[in-house]
Amino acid sequence: MLQLHSIVPRDYQACIAFCNRLRYVFVLILLTLCLSVTASQGPFAADSETTVPRKSLSTLYSQDIVLSSTHQRLYEFQYLQKNKGQLNLIIKNLDAARRSVARTVADAFLIRMEIILVPDAKALMQMVGDWAEHSTAVVISSTQQMIINCDAIQTQSSQVILQVLTHEMAHLYLSIRLKAPIPRWLNEGIAMRIAGDWNPHYHSTLAWAVLMHKTIPLRNLESSFPVEANYQQLAYCESYSVTDFIIRKQFAGSLPLFLSTISGTQGINNAQSYFQYDYRESIEYEWLKSNYGVKALVSAILSENTPWVFVLILTIIAWISILRRKRQQRRIWALETQIEQMRHDYESIAKEPTNEEIEEEVLRNLPPEKHSPTPPPIASFPMKPPVPPPPEPKDSE
Ligand SMILES: [Zn+2]
Repeated sequence: MLQLHSIVPRDYQACIAFCNRLRYVFVLILLTLCLSVTASQGPFAADSETTVPRKSLSTLYSQDIVLSSTHQRLYEFQYLQKNKGQLNLIIKNLDAARRSVARTVADAFLIRMEIILVPDAKALMQMVGDWAEHSTAVVISSTQQMIINCDAIQTQSSQVILQVLTHEMAHLYLSIRLKAPIPRWLNEGIAMRIAGDWNPHYHSTLAWAVLMHKTIPLRNLESSFPVEANYQQLAYCESYSVTDFIIRKQFAGSLPLFLSTISGTQGINNAQSYFQYDYRESIEYEWLKSNYGVKALVSAILSENTPWVFVLILTIIAWISILRRKRQQRRIWALETQIEQMRHDYESIAKEPTNEEIEEEVLRNLPPEKHSPTPPPIASFPMKPPVPPPPEPKDSE
């Protein structure tokens, strides 16, 4: 048994030194505690979903409503009997979605997941929060669960359902491969890139937003997305576009290459660099520059592939060509006037004045006569000297 007097020194000096050491240890412990609290609240904090409890339909419905469950290979399902039709649609597309993710990221993707079918948006919001009001499906990475809104998919084609499942599975894939959190815009951008979630009219939406300075700064999309539908769509557009820009400019368009730099423990620093102010701002600046201007807008409108857009473009081209022709005509006219003027100047220098011209010039410069109402006859110029009268004959007398 450890005796107290064996660790507390007896003499006074030693006691003071011991107290000082204790004080340092206490300060060190306090600092460590502060640092750990700051880290857990900072931008590099672990995904908040790690504390999310496992979701279940039983938390939403009373005992009277029959809840069903089934499993198939890597999937567990929870659903209501009335959503059996949607369940079959989903089962039909699950493997295709998983293969699509694996093919796009060039990596195996074989994790178990639980799929919960909720009947409508209200139930989805009750389960995950109000932010999911416009969501078709949501993934909870920490529990490897996917929650799908049956109301939102029942009118959709099989292709759209496949796209939704691929997008959500891409989020699950990222949660497994990445060992550090990445900004929400990047997470969404990668998931959209994997699922091919790009609508042609997003181009012009984005080009207008850039031209009008209405884009959402990336710093506002780091941890959450806007709830309002239009802004939410713009946030997704931007996320895809910025992510695609990074992959094209820095990784020669290769998504697997990009993912390899942010995956695993060796990719933690790279993944976290997207939270850094300078790095994020420089990416945003370059991306805005590449999407800015009328040229970007016209190419965006062209990519929409709708007839009225072609009519608009043809009108603009005709208008520009008329303007150019008018400008060219004006330039030719100006040149002709200049040549005419030069010719005139040259002739006036080279030509000797005729007598008539000199006479006119002199007359023009004569002072006006004041008192004679009728001007005297003007002698012709040059005046001949007066002829002297002939001498009179002298008388011989
Ligand atoms: Zn998503």
